[in-house]
Amino acid sequence: WSSNIKPDRGVNVEVILRCRPLNDDEKQLKLPVVISCNEGKGEVSVVQNTAYKQIDKTFSFDKVFGPTSRQKELFDEAISPIVNEVLEGYNCTIFAYGQTGTGKTYTMEGGRVGESGEFPSDVGIIPRAVQQILDVLEARNEEYSMKVTFLELYNEDIMDLLAPDESLNGPDDKSRKPIALMEDGRGGVFIRGLEQEVVCTADGIYKILEKGSAKRHTADSLLNMQSSRSHTIFSITIHVKESSSNGEELMKCGKLNLVDLAGSENVVRSGAKEGRVREAGEINKSLLTLGRVINALVEHSGHVPYRDSKLTRLLRDSLGGNTKTCIIATVSPSIHSLEETLNTLDYAHRAK
Ligand code: ADP
Ligand code: MG
Repeated sequence: WSSNIKPDRGVNVEVILRCRPLNDDEKQLKLPVVISCNEGKGEVSVVQNTAYKQIDKTFSFDKVFGPTSRQKELFDEAISPIVNEVLEGYNCTIFAYGQTGTGKTYTMEGGRVGESGEFPSDVGIIPRAVQQILDVLEARNEEYSMKVTFLELYNEDIMDLLAPDESLNGPDDKSRKPIALMEDGRGGVFIRGLEQEVVCTADGIYKILEKGSAKRHTADSLLNMQSSRSHTIFSITIHVKESSSNGEELMKCGKLNLVDLAGSENVVRSGAKEGRVREAGEINKSLLTLGRVINALVEHSGHVPYRDSKLTRLLRDSLGGNTKTCIIATVSPSIHSLEETLNTLDYAHRAK
């Protein structure tokens, strides 16, 4: 087999903004809405008008999805074209970035796929991407395989979320051993012993997601919800055997990383104490490095600081070079998240 040769199309970063609807608490407290989305123009405006403070700022993005946008709409308009690139043999990465509680996991995973494989409207990107890959490959009638891995990055330690259960005693098990990131000597990295699962149906994906999510580190915080302090990376690798016109067999390989980043809120605000300081430092380090890597790629500056965090080392083969990157920044429309929302808009806008 000769490996596929793909035309180099340079760096390609797309930034999408999604604003969730008000939640019940916000509705009950009758908190003012300070975000307005203009989907047609791809703009988000932040307006606050009080006697003490006046803000009126507009940010533009490649695409904007307002509070009434549906999962299917976001997938069809923004993600489906990326999945097609993966099917053509490119490596792509989709990030969900934003404050805890703004819809990162909802966007990436969403609700569960039905018993008979039907998709309720709240099903998120991961099962939809798997379904699209299966549909396209089945229709093409080519020999293929699809494998997934699911890992968590917590305090710069890598945990395998698909590790067999026998080796675990629940999420707090101290014996959970981080696994090592190895250099392959060619500038890339690999993870020894990472569990890979073969996927044949989209509802199979849900069981994998559920198994993995149950193992994810979470901690209560004063934000009164389970606040995610780790990043998860769900990777789909496909291999397709193709026959060219001269009868030669060709192996096409594509990879899609779906990254649910740790909450971007700063630690002070969430009331973190002592033990959380290291966590906060590491979370900041990877989120800041990710921002710098993307800036360096977008600005074509020579040095790209991949090595500065494990997150960017892990994703190196799918960030920059001949790949496509999509950042979905998630925000709340409510005034009580205003400060974080401005931080998120700023971070996401700088990645453009
Ligand atoms: P995060 O992963 O960013 O912490 P979640 O995805 O857990 O946030 O979302 C927090 C809550 O808001 C969940 O109950 C989720 O179902 C709901 N939610 C988030 N985004 C949306 C949306 N676009 N539409 C409807 N509900 C949403
Ligand atoms: Mg989450």
